[in-house]
Amino acid sequence: MGKNGEAFFVRNISMAKEKLLLIPGPSPVHERILAALAEPTVAHTGPEMQVELKGACENLKRIAFCSNGEAFIIAGAGTLAMEMALLNTAAAGKDRVLVLSQGYFGERMGQICRAFGIDHDIMEAEWGRAILPDELDERLIKNTYDVIVSTHVDTATGACAPVEDYARIVKKRSGALFIVDGVCATGGIPEKMDDWGIDVVLTAAQKCFGVPPGLALCVFSERAMAKRQGLASIPAYYSDILRWLPIMKDPAKYFSTPCVNEIRSFFEATRIILEEGLEPRFRRHNLFARAVREGLRALGFGFFTDPEFYASTLSVPAYPAGIEDKAFRAELYENGVVVAGGLAQTAGKVFRMGHMGNLTRDEVLFALESVEKTLVSLGYRFEPGAGLKAAGAVLGP
Ligand code: PMP
Repeated sequence: MGKNGEAFFVRNISMAKEKLLLIPGPSPVHERILAALAEPTVAHTGPEMQVELKGACENLKRIAFCSNGEAFIIAGAGTLAMEMALLNTAAAGKDRVLVLSQGYFGERMGQICRAFGIDHDIMEAEWGRAILPDELDERLIKNTYDVIVSTHVDTATGACAPVEDYARIVKKRSGALFIVDGVCATGGIPEKMDDWGIDVVLTAAQKCFGVPPGLALCVFSERAMAKRQGLASIPAYYSDILRWLPIMKDPAKYFSTPCVNEIRSFFEATRIILEEGLEPRFRRHNLFARAVREGLRALGFGFFTDPEFYASTLSVPAYPAGIEDKAFRAELYENGVVVAGGLAQTAGKVFRMGHMGNLTRDEVLFALESVEKTLVSLGYRFEPGAGLKAAGAVLGP
């Protein structure tokens, strides 16, 4: 990608065939990934998996900036990855966990702690914001934890947490393991495990990787692996990483049948990411996010998320007066773009728009054009072309 964010990916938008999927994941699937998904089903212990599963693990570690440690790729979704990260590092009756929550998915981490009887505290940020580094610092001066977990980007609120700052503070104030839920971030926003001191990145395939849903992904640092090795047993079977470790190292071995086709497509997705380059990819996500927000702002939308915590991967625009949520989203769908409604307290007031994965510049502009068409159909008055112009100014020629 050039410095102005011209398309790295070339994809024709054929809206007759396919809607542009801009919900907060799954994201649009590139045809190279779809083609890999349609490759023949091979033996899960055969030679193809030696290359593809092992290659995917290596690439996933590179994407999480983890030079040692271990990657795990198993059938499931982000919630399974949350469970895997927690159960393999925190023991009920022994460890104390701190959950840094921006909302919906932090609350879910708390629910998982409760389901397994794990002692935990939750620091809750107001929706649309994240816990401030100083607040974490203060908490860690007064309290001791064994494991600290943070959502990186909360998909409900669009708030991106300063996980690099958190990691620094965790390292300074405690010996706790630091887990990041990167479901809405990994591969789109940096998560530098080695440099920052993150011990587990948990994530899923359907967001910034641009793969159809179906994979739970985790990268454990050496320290996190050592913690698991030190736990005699954990209240899990399928999500016990020690049962999977031999398979990730040598796919000729068997524990439970890996999802061969998904793994092939995920491997292709990781190759696409590394071909683009991690830093250019992060810059592209940031550029597209700014273009989307400037475009929508020029049309009269506000934003639910506090600007201090804007995410590169999704936006949560608030409707201008007179625009009704269901009618807007239904009309936008007719105009070729799928977005999601607000969750919980934001329902009816906002929509949620993902701009992550292998999105192109043309798709960003198409989305804004479709929003403009939709507003015209709904009788909303605005300066025609204002959204496209503002987004174009961010994207450059
Ligand atoms: N964490 C975050 C931050 C998420 O956005 C999501 C899904 N939107 C999850 C966890 C759960 O992932 P899944 O729906 O794949 O189980």
